[in-house]
Amino acid sequence: MSDLFDKCRTDGGYFGGFRVRKDTYFSQPVLEGRVGARMKFQGKDVVVWAINNYLGIAGRPELTTAASAALAAHGPSAPMGSRLLTGNSEAHIELERRFASFCGKPSSIVFNYGYLGVLGTVSALVGRDDVVVIDSLSHASMIDATVLASAGRRFRPYKHNDMDDLESHLRAARKDRKGGILVITEGVFGMKGNLANLPEICRLKEKYGARLFVDDAHGFGVMGRNGQGTGEHLGVQAGIDLYFGTFAKAFAAIGGVTAGESDVVEWVRYNARTNVFAKALPLVYVKTVEKALSIVESEPQLRERMWSIARRLQSGLVNLGFDIGDTESPITPVYVIAGDEKTAMSMIVMLREQFGVFVSAVTYPVVPRGVILFRMIPTAAHSEEDVDLTVSAFGKMRDALKLDLSTRPSRKNR
Ligand code: PMP
Repeated sequence: MSDLFDKCRTDGGYFGGFRVRKDTYFSQPVLEGRVGARMKFQGKDVVVWAINNYLGIAGRPELTTAASAALAAHGPSAPMGSRLLTGNSEAHIELERRFASFCGKPSSIVFNYGYLGVLGTVSALVGRDDVVVIDSLSHASMIDATVLASAGRRFRPYKHNDMDDLESHLRAARKDRKGGILVITEGVFGMKGNLANLPEICRLKEKYGARLFVDDAHGFGVMGRNGQGTGEHLGVQAGIDLYFGTFAKAFAAIGGVTAGESDVVEWVRYNARTNVFAKALPLVYVKTVEKALSIVESEPQLRERMWSIARRLQSGLVNLGFDIGDTESPITPVYVIAGDEKTAMSMIVMLREQFGVFVSAVTYPVVPRGVILFRMIPTAAHSEEDVDLTVSAFGKMRDALKLDLSTRPSRKNR
């Protein structure tokens, strides 16, 4: 027998090495200043490429004004309680009506966090006789929701965006199951920036009588002419049974929304434990999100600006010989062969300290061993100068470290 807490004094667990070193440089770094393209890190000015502020609205005064007015009118606490008991308000109901319309669905339900929305929606709908078929690269919230909903029974992960594998799982699921089938995928994959093959997924889910849940955290407000997401971008929004978006990225606030048929959304409202047993989203945020939605709807030029910055960054990096994989969205993953973790960390230090460029990096197991992925998020708040300075920094890093760019690490192990 051992004490439950023994492990806390080892370097095990997620990012254990960083935890025992009390690191705040690579994990939990503190960025200071207003959220935007330029912030401060450890007292130094940096250009930040690590925040999902796609439309650059996090610093917009209208959001602060909306939040301040709600704070003055209602205080920080209202409403108190779960939506089902004392936590409902006309503002929540109106926000849900607006999101239903924005997502092109009859109805919607707002959650306090995107993570809780995914968890609540999936676990409310999937019961003991149902089967989940999920893209294996899906975000942790979808994996956790699947595990919770499947309660130890089988679920079926399919190879990332592999439509043959999806079909074989659907065929097998149709044979074994007593209940329904839910296919789960991201719209824009948050790490690689590529899109789910939604037209084919919609065709297959119809063929096998399944339903489709799309977590479009990175497409919501970002993709499509009107920012309605990856479904709009690919012309298949109507085929998505449950469309999900978070307010934590392009909307620069907090919370999330699931949109779908009215009776299905009402089922989720009454059965999602993350809705029933949690306090409602505070009015300060309901009002902030309402304003963010108005900006997303009325300022398409923000998306044009974001794309123009994204294209400049992506083509600049590709011209230098960097591998940015198969992104189809603003998300710009830069894959570099780093060898060991120490070399990977020295690249991050060089970018931050020598060039004032702040990027987040991802290593194994998200990417193959020996590869480092710099995950960069261009936004409408960045300037051409920010891009040029950053591309030049990557060029200088390439030369200083004599990086071998002759292989395509994004294709390794795939
Ligand atoms: N889904 C995806 C694909 C995400 O990337 C995230 C956020 N990292 C979430 C869900 C969770 O959203 P939130 O931060 O609003 O809880």
